[in-house]
Amino acid sequence: MKILVINAGSSSLKYQLIDMETENVMAKGLCERIGIGGQLKHTPLVGDKPVFNEDIDLPTHSEAIAAVIDKLTSEEYGVVSSMKEIDAVGHRVVHGGEKFASSVLINDEVLQAIDECTPFAPLHNPANIIGIQACKEVMGEDVPMVAVFDTAFHQTMPPKAYMYALPYEYYKEGVRRYGFHGTSHRYVSQRCAELMGKPIEELKIISCHMGNGSSICAVDGGKSVDTSMGFTPLVGLPMGTRCGDLDPGAMQFIMNKHNMPIDEMLTVLNKKSGVLGVSGVSSDFRDLDGAKSEGNNQAALALDMFHYWVGKVAGSYAAAMNGVDAIVFTAGVGENSASSRLAISQYFGFLGVTIDEEANSKRGEDIMISTPDSKVKVFVIPTNEELVIARDTKDIVGG
Ligand code: ADP
Repeated sequence: MKILVINAGSSSLKYQLIDMETENVMAKGLCERIGIGGQLKHTPLVGDKPVFNEDIDLPTHSEAIAAVIDKLTSEEYGVVSSMKEIDAVGHRVVHGGEKFASSVLINDEVLQAIDECTPFAPLHNPANIIGIQACKEVMGEDVPMVAVFDTAFHQTMPPKAYMYALPYEYYKEGVRRYGFHGTSHRYVSQRCAELMGKPIEELKIISCHMGNGSSICAVDGGKSVDTSMGFTPLVGLPMGTRCGDLDPGAMQFIMNKHNMPIDEMLTVLNKKSGVLGVSGVSSDFRDLDGAKSEGNNQAALALDMFHYWVGKVAGSYAAAMNGVDAIVFTAGVGENSASSRLAISQYFGFLGVTIDEEANSKRGEDIMISTPDSKVKVFVIPTNEELVIARDTKDIVGG
C-alpha cells in the first residue's frame, strides 16, 4: 500500500509518498507561494531520479496537487507509474475541537465538522480543507482520504487539566485547553516505550516537542493527561516568536499605553515575542547560541528563559502524574541542540536524572542520553508526524 501524506498550509503544501510495506519515504516535496506565483521542490528518494526545483504557476491548491501528482508519476522524476498506485491520502488537520478524539475517514459530514472547528483555528483549518478538496478534485472521489488531527491525542485530558477557571458558560462555547503537536507527542511516546521494552500502559512519559513552536505533554499509560499549549498554540513555553504564558493584564497595559488594537497585539504575541522578542536577535536557536557565545546578554537570557520554562513545566508534569519514567526531547531544538538538552536537564536533578554527555552529543537517531543508573531515562527521538499520519490512514482504510 502506498500512501500520500499531505500537510496543506494557506500558501504551501508539504507532501510525502510512503510505501507502507517498508515504511520508506519514496518521495517528498514542498509547494510554496501558492496563489502568489508558485514553486515546487520535489525530491525522489528511490532510484536515482533527479530533484525537481523550479518556479511553476500555482494559482490554487488544485494546481499544486496536480503538479505533485504529475511529478510523482513522471518518467523523469517519478517514483510510481500512475496515480492508481496511490491507495489513499492522509491529511494533517490542525483542529478537531471536541469532535475528533482520533483520526477519521473523510466524508462530507467530516468535512463539515472540520469546518465547524474553523473558529478555533482560523488560519489553519480552512487551508487544510482546501487541501482536502483539491485532492478530491484532482484524484477523484474514489481515493480514500483520512484526517489526522493535531488536537486529537489530547482529547484524553481530564477536565481538571483542560478547563480554564472562567465562568462555565464559556466552556460550553468551546473555550478550553485543546493542545497541539498531538501527532508528534503520540509518536515519540510510543517509540519511547518501544525503546524501553515496556508496554506504554505501564509508563509515565514527559514528551518535550521543541521546535519553532514548542509544547510539552504528560503521557500517562499512553494517554495525554496534560499539555502546555491551550485554546491556541500561543501559550505555555516561550517559543521562537510566540510569547507563551502571559498575564492578560499585561496585554491590557500594553494596548492602553500604545493605543494598540487587539489584532496588532496578537501579532506582537505571535510573531514578535518569544526568544526573538527577548533576544532581539533571532527566533532560531542556532543564532541565539552564536550570539550568546559572542557575549550577547539578551540572547543568553532568552535561552535561559526557554530552558527554565521547559524544566519547570516538565517538573510540574512529574507532579501531575505522580511520577515519571522517561523524558523525551524531539523536534528541531530537541533533536539538534545538545546544549539546550543539557541546560534543561539541570532542572531534572531532583528526579535523579544524570546525562551521559557523550551520548548527548550524538545526532539524528533514537538514543538514550541518560546514564544507565539514571533514575528517570532521558531520550532523544526524532519525531515523524508523516509516518503517524500514514499509519493511521493505512489502519483506517485497510480496516
Ligand atoms: P517547526 O516547529 O517549524 O516544525 P522544527 O521542529 O523544524 O520547527 O524546528 C526548527 C527550529 O529548530 C529552528 O528554528 C532552530 O531554532 C532549531 N534548530 C535546528 N537545528 C538546530 C541546531 N543544530 N541547534 C539548535 N537549534 C536548532
